[in-house]
Amino acid sequence: MAVALLFTLGASAFYAAPLTSSRAVRAPAPRAAVASPAAPADLRGKLYTKREAPKVAGGVKVGTRRVVVITGASSGLGLTTTKALIAQNYFVVAAVRSPDKMDEVARETGLSKNDYVAMKLELASLQSVKDFVANLKLFLPARPLSHLICNAAVYLPTDPNPSWTDDGYEMSLGVNHLGHFLLVQLLLPELKRAKGARCTIVGSVTGNSNTIAGSLVKPVADVGNLEGLRAGGGRVATMASSPSEGFYGAKAYKDAKALNMMTVLEMHRRFHTSSGVVFNSMYPGCIAETNLFREKRAWFRDFFFPNLMKAIGAYVSEDEAGERLAQVIYDPQCTKSGVYWSWNGSAKQFAINAKKYGAGGAGGEIFENEFSGMIVDEERGRLAYEYSMEAVKDYL
Ligand code: NDP
Repeated sequence: MAVALLFTLGASAFYAAPLTSSRAVRAPAPRAAVASPAAPADLRGKLYTKREAPKVAGGVKVGTRRVVVITGASSGLGLTTTKALIAQNYFVVAAVRSPDKMDEVARETGLSKNDYVAMKLELASLQSVKDFVANLKLFLPARPLSHLICNAAVYLPTDPNPSWTDDGYEMSLGVNHLGHFLLVQLLLPELKRAKGARCTIVGSVTGNSNTIAGSLVKPVADVGNLEGLRAGGGRVATMASSPSEGFYGAKAYKDAKALNMMTVLEMHRRFHTSSGVVFNSMYPGCIAETNLFREKRAWFRDFFFPNLMKAIGAYVSEDEAGERLAQVIYDPQCTKSGVYWSWNGSAKQFAINAKKYGAGGAGGEIFENEFSGMIVDEERGRLAYEYSMEAVKDYL
């Protein structure tokens, strides 16, 4: 109990709901609604203002290497996965919001420019996603793309007010889910051309209500009937579940991770049999030191949280997490579609038992984990897909 209580200090308040594998749709917890300012009519405040000049493969010899696109390759899990995939002889297209930052980080990390290319992708702009795909096709005119990893994310737990994508979606929903959703749709024809193609969208225990972090730590992911997503852009909804639900940054992240995993399952249902493309998700473990926790105070991020996660067996280093994500791409064990891969336990045990029974931390073997009931609900998956398609339709 003490550990569980400590856990909550880092997130929100304690939530004493039982761990279940499925939950009924319920109304979101009432919170004070935040008034949405009107959308700007011009480019002021836009995150994406200019298309990157197309890059040509030119001197880069991709050769016979398989090509993998990974979003958010310039830090944390994305960077260590890039390293791990290059070590497995993949060529990496680093889809990043700052190619200059990627090149700098790659130089510091010792990555060779023969093994990767940094290309601009601002996930907070649907136009940028479309431009990225056009540039990618110019870069790889003859080579099929074999793998796509949707890894980038923002986590804004302490923001009192929502921030917005260029299209007027709440930032976590827009970046973590909708930008990736469009990217997957636009790259699906490329993946279909490749043999043994795999598409991985990084999931999380926090979006699964059948886990400690997803159920005991408030807020709990709950996308409801997706009326907020359905309402569309233009800053009309701060939360995916409903336009009337007030902004709650930690929940917006969890809802978006839930939508990531629902997307994997719906893509699997719709396209796996006909295309052969493998769609999967994974939980890397708690990589407590990444920039994802940039909003947290230094003492929490650098000391308290990693040590707490180690104590309950949930902690994994950035390098090990990168090996895990890379494994989902290259390991012959991972050819099954519609799977949620995890390592070292399913993170469903309470507090100190979590260490004994495996809370997803370092070590252990890969196994097929279970999504929560909300994630596997087929009707909700269909709605999430259709509303998301409606949101991105002008960019298809
Ligand atoms: P980081 O913050 O280190 O990495 C997130 C990446 O996303 C960064 O490279 C960042 O770019 C990029 N990004 C953020 N916003 C945008 C945007 N608008 N457009 C394009 N790229 C963007 O966090 P992690 O490495 O921890 O997270 C990686 C994934 O792992 C996420 O999907 C997260 O949900 C998941 N995850 C993480 C866990 C953890 O414990 N850390 C646990 C479970 C899942 P930039 O480099 O420019 O900042």
